[in-house]
Amino acid sequence: MGQFKKLIDCYDCGHSVSGNAAACPSCGSRQPFGPPILGRKRSPIQNVEARNDRNMIVIARALGGLGAAYGIATSSGPWMAALFAIAYGTVGILLGVPFAGFLNLTRRLWQ
Ligand SMILES: [Zn+2]
Repeated sequence: MGQFKKLIDCYDCGHSVSGNAAACPSCGSRQPFGPPILGRKRSPIQNVEARNDRNMIVIARALGGLGAAYGIATSSGPWMAALFAIAYGTVGILLGVPFAGFLNLTRRLWQ
């Protein structure tokens, strides 16, 4: 008799919640086991996500710019330069997004 499920701390408010509760009785979070959808633990995680998104854009742009510069440098004329700039720039962005995503993933594991 008694507790079949252990009490856990609500991910959102820290209140003790039964392990089989559908929602936190204290703050009403429907996911007391996380990820947080309410409450105080949300903002730091959101800040990290926002920063990671900014980093991803910066890295993608940098690689796109490098690709464009490489295309211009290796071409033999203005039309080829434009063509290569677009082609390498696109490749740079396509490579940069997953690369930045990988960096974000590994950084999160290190935290
Ligand atoms: Zn709660």
